[in-house]
Amino acid sequence: MASQKQTLTSLPQVSSEIASPEVAPSVWRRQLDALKASFPSPWREPDRDQSFEQMFARAVGMINALKQPPAGTDAAKSYLGKVDLPDYSKCHEARLAPRMMPQEQVLAELASLFDGMPVWNHPYTMANVIPPANTPSIIGAAMAGVFSPNIIEGEYSWNVAKTELEAAAMVAAMIGWDPQTAGGLFTFGGTGCYLYGTKYALTRVLGPESRKRGIRVDGQILVSAEGHYVKDNCSDWTGLGSGNVREIQVDEQNRMSIPHLKQVLEECRREGKPVVMVVCTMGTTDAFAIDPIREVREILDSYENAGGCPRPLLYADAVIGWSWLAFKHYDFERNPLQFSAEALAKIRRNAEQMADLIYADAIGCDFHKTGWSPYNCSLFMVKDYKLFAKMLERPAPAYLQDRTAYNPGHYTLETSRSAAYSTAAWSTLKLLGYEGFQVMLGRIIEVEVYFRKVLAEMPNMVCVNPTENGFVTLFRVYPEWVDAKAQYQRELSDPGAREDLYWYNMLQQNVANKLFAMLRDPDQRVEGWEYPPYTSFTAGYRPTSYAPGETDKRYWVYGLKSYPMSPYCDERAMLMAAMYARKACQLVIEEQLAMHAARAAQQQAAAGAEPGADTSANWFGDNILIPLKYLVQQ
Ligand SMILES: *Cc1c(COP(=O)(O)O)cnc(C)c1O
Repeated sequence: MASQKQTLTSLPQVSSEIASPEVAPSVWRRQLDALKASFPSPWREPDRDQSFEQMFARAVGMINALKQPPAGTDAAKSYLGKVDLPDYSKCHEARLAPRMMPQEQVLAELASLFDGMPVWNHPYTMANVIPPANTPSIIGAAMAGVFSPNIIEGEYSWNVAKTELEAAAMVAAMIGWDPQTAGGLFTFGGTGCYLYGTKYALTRVLGPESRKRGIRVDGQILVSAEGHYVKDNCSDWTGLGSGNVREIQVDEQNRMSIPHLKQVLEECRREGKPVVMVVCTMGTTDAFAIDPIREVREILDSYENAGGCPRPLLYADAVIGWSWLAFKHYDFERNPLQFSAEALAKIRRNAEQMADLIYADAIGCDFHKTGWSPYNCSLFMVKDYKLFAKMLERPAPAYLQDRTAYNPGHYTLETSRSAAYSTAAWSTLKLLGYEGFQVMLGRIIEVEVYFRKVLAEMPNMVCVNPTENGFVTLFRVYPEWVDAKAQYQRELSDPGAREDLYWYNMLQQNVANKLFAMLRDPDQRVEGWEYPPYTSFTAGYRPTSYAPGETDKRYWVYGLKSYPMSPYCDERAMLMAAMYARKACQLVIEEQLAMHAARAAQQQAAAGAEPGADTSANWFGDNILIPLKYLVQQ
């Protein structure tokens, strides 16, 4: 054999003559063989490949087995497995084991941790803007896990990098930007997009030297009071300082007030502070308010920034709203998908407002919100990609070379960049097309329309965001004897009803806690009303109309929240949400009355404290004692 003749130093004729050197057997080599079996094979080996594929399928099977049956009472449970509350107290006792664990066991233990997870796909899950992920996006992200493409550059991701380039081109065309000059980068969430926007704005307005010298000028960020709190993260983490964010007041519909924006822009110039970025929120998280971005663009186009700085960047935080662009070409006259007239009007309104995204300089789009993709999956879009890349370019590190034409690592925030973001988003865009997005979005509006009809008919319930056309309905529930519509109107507009607002806010909070406890605390399960829809709550939806500048959020409007995102959500689920809120309200009032009775008994012995100070043991928040006059008809 050739190998016997081969020496280490002589170069053979062909590489196939190079044999494996002999090595001494050892324990580590034997262990390594076991370890190798825990990695996918580097070759196409049907046996080993199948065992990897089956392991994958088995692991998914283990978590699927935690789902509830589709019929019977348990079908209403919107979480996996058992009801037990999570106990995190022992987690810090975890230690690395001395030896390896068989992979089946690792996966079985991992699967067991999915016990209790909310099922985002469940018709009763309507807690927040949390969508179930579609199958191609889940598997697309997992495929990126199998071969680990790194979209730092084409060399490490090869054709998979096209998922980023093509997804960005598709979204650019949806926006109406030129896909040749616009572009996008996937990043870690709407927060990452906002951070990209902030950094781009700082560099464009304060100059590229600011990247070396640091941020030494108090550049200002202007965003509506309803804008997302990541304004604080991004101003803080860029070193600008969250004190340099100025909030613009909102109008009746939670949209940025144009007169106030003009006033603040004036103030900034007078103070000699350049405005680096104006953020238009294109769909607020709670209320789906859409800022008037076209008007903001007009104002900025003629705005003279302080210190001779270039114009502020217009960033659109459209992480929730972007997918409404899918209605761009919808024929609203013919209405081919046959949406109801009410839904169609809302859809049209959203689509028209979202079409103005074209006026932004940069836009954040979350696929893990209104793109039905798994976490994290966000696309930062920029209108002038070349300019962006030039502004944020860094010298290449010694260990990376440009081997292909795509090297975003020269200007991205992240170094290693998982392609799981872009494979998931690309798969979603391919799966849905314009029509798929239209059906998903239109359906949510249809169930919301239905839910609002239910609320309109229930005397003790009221919708508090009737003018907003988004996915979310915020509502309040009152004792059965209260005319909710009239009562809420007073709370909203009559300064004399300020305390009413406060105490009925507390009632909403208690009801929200109760609904969660009924669902999740085995001790608080209510017979016949076992599994409430998984809804949520907002403490501070909007200020009253008589105190728009109210700083104490307890005097803002609280609301229960329904946010249906699953394609399985239907009219019945919405009816359930309304009925369970009423039931929970009754239960809270019963508890409150018992607390009052206990209080009265105590007071005979000693002087009591004021209402509001008392609490009963409740895992999910204090049950704040509400004065009797709000609970029982006087
Ligand atoms: C969710 C949200 C964010 C933050 O995005 P993440 O993807 O959670 O990082 C920012 N702005 C708005 C309006 C949001 O709804």
